[in-house]
Amino acid sequence: MASQEFLSDGHLDGSVLAGPFADVFVHDVTVADTQCVHCGHEGPLARLLVYVGGPGIVARCEQCGQVMLRLVTTEGGAVHLDLRGTVRLTFNGPGPSLTEV
Ligand SMILES: [Zn+2]
Repeated sequence: MASQEFLSDGHLDGSVLAGPFADVFVHDVTVADTQCVHCGHEGPLARLLVYVGGPGIVARCEQCGQVMLRLVTTEGGAVHLDLRGTVRLTFNGPGPSLTEV
């Protein structure tokens, strides 16, 4: 357990996610399995249909064509990752060993 203290209703501050998320996003995300919110199709992220002509990157489901994710970098360098079309990303096999919160 890190030095974080539980707050009055038993939760921790979101800053404790820094370690576990750093463990996840050092891996090649294209090998992650995904599931589409719209049709339930499952498959590797590398199979999504990617469009780069707009203000950012849009990736669509190979099965139904709906948007699964958007990645946009705005002026100033902020990176916005919108995963509303994705149920989950799953890293199989010898994936990250998550830092304990
Ligand atoms: Zn779909």
